[in-house]
Amino acid sequence: MMNTTTTALITPPSPSPSSSSTSPHFPEITTCKTLKHLTQIHAHLIKTSQINDPLIASSLLHAAAITHRELNYALRLFRNIPRPNPFSYNTIIRALAETLIVEEQFYDSQLIEALSIFSQMLNDEFVVPNKFTYPSVLKACGRLKKGLRIGVQVHGQVVKLGFDDDEFVISNLLRMYVMCGEMGDADLLFRKRVRKSDDFCVNGDDLGNGYVDNYGFRERKKRRDDGDVVLWNVMVDGYVKIGEFEVARKLFDEMPKRSVVSWNGMIAGYARGGRFREAVEVFREMQVVGDGVKPNYVTLISVLPAISHLGALELGNWVHLYAERNGIVIDDVLGSALVDMYSKCGSLGKALQIFEGLPKKSTITWNAVINGLAIHGRANEAIEYFSKMLDLGVKPSDVTYIGVLTACSHGGKVEEGKMFFNHMVNVCGFPPRIEHYGCMVDLLGRNGLLDEAEKFILEMPLKPDDVIWKALLGACKMHGNIEMGARVAKHLMEIVPSDSGSYVALSNLYASLGNWDGVAQVRLLMKDKDIRKDPGCSWIELEGAIHEFLVEDDKHPRATDIKLMLEEISSRLSEIGYQLNTSQVFLNVEEEEDAKQSGLQYHSEKIAVAFGLISTRSKTPLRVVKNLRICQDCHSSIKLISKLYERTIVVRDRKRFHHFKDGSCSCNDYW
Ligand code: ZN
Ligand code: ZN
Repeated sequence: MMNTTTTALITPPSPSPSSSSTSPHFPEITTCKTLKHLTQIHAHLIKTSQINDPLIASSLLHAAAITHRELNYALRLFRNIPRPNPFSYNTIIRALAETLIVEEQFYDSQLIEALSIFSQMLNDEFVVPNKFTYPSVLKACGRLKKGLRIGVQVHGQVVKLGFDDDEFVISNLLRMYVMCGEMGDADLLFRKRVRKSDDFCVNGDDLGNGYVDNYGFRERKKRRDDGDVVLWNVMVDGYVKIGEFEVARKLFDEMPKRSVVSWNGMIAGYARGGRFREAVEVFREMQVVGDGVKPNYVTLISVLPAISHLGALELGNWVHLYAERNGIVIDDVLGSALVDMYSKCGSLGKALQIFEGLPKKSTITWNAVINGLAIHGRANEAIEYFSKMLDLGVKPSDVTYIGVLTACSHGGKVEEGKMFFNHMVNVCGFPPRIEHYGCMVDLLGRNGLLDEAEKFILEMPLKPDDVIWKALLGACKMHGNIEMGARVAKHLMEIVPSDSGSYVALSNLYASLGNWDGVAQVRLLMKDKDIRKDPGCSWIELEGAIHEFLVEDDKHPRATDIKLMLEEISSRLSEIGYQLNTSQVFLNVEEEEDAKQSGLQYHSEKIAVAFGLISTRSKTPLRVVKNLRICQDCHSSIKLISKLYERTIVVRDRKRFHHFKDGSCSCNDYW
């Protein structure tokens, strides 16, 4: 959720080479603050015929296009300039190629317009493109779907005109190939350029000729390296984008010099690619190695989603403190990332506190808090915040509705959920995404309306994906509808044949009917197709380090102590009459590797809880994150553990939060 709204900020702002050549021939143009004022100046210029002065016309165009980002107005101005100078051409091309119309989106038509004005410029006998023209033109090619063909032609022109030595042109050329996914061509260009600067170091003329101006040489080498950093960054970015993380990392490690942008790029790349552990590791490395750079606003925005996914509260806290101590402004974007982090790390109280303290709350901020309340099962408050948001006149986005629908689903609010869904479609006019349909199926299914949920799936206009069917399958399991469950499981086995979940579900359904032949058949099928169950994995953060446990995990340095603790827990649980219901475990193997089969009696979340108990002082709350859904047995035992050991235990499973306290869970045994 955060990703989509923050990426725009992660891209470094592009320098504005052309603006340096503007001179305020009519000073009010450059100082005016509003578009209205600008149009008044425009009217005045027409009345006094000053508009015919090409320099005044072009600075008016610059103000409209670049300062006020009014593309349509700027285009009209441009078309009325009888003989545009190169500066005007560059201005309008840059505005079209680089201004986002909708958040993070370029329209192809806008980019095509940029390229057609460029071609008009090429045909204009009074002007020639200069080195400020090409960066924007190349950006347009890179952003345009199927822009590669034109991009290659432009590359040819650049070489012919001798601009291929200009750093700014080169980096945009490289970026164009990267954006078109042509990593081979990008790499060729990159190697050529980087090798050239290696030559520069070793065989530099100054060195060869003997009269070595050492300082001057070092200065120039530094400038060259600084320029090259951009190229390295573009390459690393490109490999991250196509999912070649190993290649990207190798390049990153080889970089002769790394800027804060390099570090941020690597962190954001890992986080966006779902490599959360690596993202956090690079973030830590940045503080140790650092290359003389320190985390900045963008770094924090990039690393926070990874911290949220890992549930690493201590590290998240550290980031928050770091921002406060280093004067990094916590605006609505960083604030939302913090709200999201605190709620996903189990500290909803802190999330709400940050939210209340933010001076500016935008849509993404409200989305973060509503979603936070929803995943913690606080449905009423989530809905209250939603209506507060509307009352304050903040426009909801379709993401807002995912939070609201999730809240309804977990809070058993079927009618409200339906109403919100209709409101989103009919009043707000957002076309529902597959996620919204998923929420609705979950809402209906979770609350026992299985037939209605199935009908909803069959009638939805989008093709239902496996997530949708899995939501229904989960509901069938929850409500014991074996007939529908088997049907859905079989369907899932067809659409995602390598996913273990549906096989396990079908096997469980047969087992609960006592249909052992059926169970045997499914297990045989799994063996035939070599389908293994997902390994369960849980982790707990202690003093900033993340301790990860798998089923059958005895690799941890404190494995023996953990085992003793688990045995103590078992015996104390049986003292108060709790017995691990083995037949139930067998029936409900869940998605996890069968605990009994693997010879160990404990699922990973129990191991993590035991480790937490022996590693922290009494009364310290424990926070555990699990990659799969928590099983019935672990859920019942952790409830009792919370009472016996007087601990609050927060478990985040794949779907939601469980706050265990005094022997009960916030989900009311319903998840
Ligand atoms: Zn379990
Ligand atoms: Zn629970």
